[in-house]
Amino acid sequence: MMQPACATGHDSGIPTILVAGGAGYIGSHMVKRLALSGYQVLVVDNLSTGFRDAVRHGQFVEGDLADAGFLDRIFVERGISAVLHFAALSQVGESVLVPVRYYRNNVANTLNLLDAMQRHGVQNFIFSSTAAIFGEPGYTPIDERHPMQPISPYGRSKKMVEEILADGDRAGGLRYVSLRYFNAAGADPDGELGERHDPESHLIPLVLQAASGRRSHIAIFGSDYPTPDGTCIRDYIHVHDLCTAHLLALEHLLAGGASLALNLGNGQGFSVREVIDTARRVSGREIPVQVHDRRPGDPAILVADSRNASVKLGWTPLYPDLETIVGDAWSWEQRKSRSW
Ligand code: UDP
Repeated sequence: MMQPACATGHDSGIPTILVAGGAGYIGSHMVKRLALSGYQVLVVDNLSTGFRDAVRHGQFVEGDLADAGFLDRIFVERGISAVLHFAALSQVGESVLVPVRYYRNNVANTLNLLDAMQRHGVQNFIFSSTAAIFGEPGYTPIDERHPMQPISPYGRSKKMVEEILADGDRAGGLRYVSLRYFNAAGADPDGELGERHDPESHLIPLVLQAASGRRSHIAIFGSDYPTPDGTCIRDYIHVHDLCTAHLLALEHLLAGGASLALNLGNGQGFSVREVIDTARRVSGREIPVQVHDRRPGDPAILVADSRNASVKLGWTPLYPDLETIVGDAWSWEQRKSRSW
């Protein structure tokens, strides 16, 4: 077991990490990873989209980032060394329909969290950002110099927070790592946790629900894109590898490292049809498809250039191949389809 890089603020000498949104998909995997890496973990989640039973480690406190009094109690009672912030709404399409809800959750609540950190002298912040901050790609793969021109309220809400973080860093008292996820996918290789949204909207879990028979078919959103098979190309990244990047980012900040904003993907794109074919191979099942119209706001190709993450954090994905990503998600889907 790896030992945390520094010890501050807690009686036991082990850093306590506050994980906001730790009952969600990526947050719950991260909570487990932090606990197994020897950190004390405090999970805060309002359970609006997360699940209590996804928090298998650490200590859970139900509460809302909109509630400054609640945050004060959390920060006063525990010596918190760093905050990992996963608590956000993340559906591009929904954000177009209810933008104010997105700005309130993703921007205003993040400000509350940053305010509480400042009041209690906590400096280290790791932020879940997204490829959606870039908008329509001007070139591919997308590196950190690519202009940020988001085309949805979701993307704009994340870009706003990135700008707030950069200002906070310039003003002093805040150091952060902003991690721009491309397409988070897969499940805990131990089989304990996996992707769970209600309703589900992401490609890989939906394809696997069609494979297990929980869904009649998978809808392909658009087959007339300028790509080799006409379907959108995305860079799928295993949730385990995302967690590794967070762990390295945390060690970087706890060791006094400078603020960073990094793109996270495998640098390889797969089309919707390639994902479906992989799921057919992995599951050995038929997966009926129907071709639908394009989904508004979907760029044709989104692929990350993650060389900076490798240079700055020493990050290397362990599970870059799509078969493993889909395979772990399939194990989780089989478990779910048996039990729920
Ligand atoms: N997609 C699809 N059918 C679905 C869900 C998604 O064809 O039922 C496509 C979507 O248009 C995009 C890709 O799959 O090109 C990945 O979508 P997802 O929602 O998983 O992630 P996003 O790229 O929006 O972050």
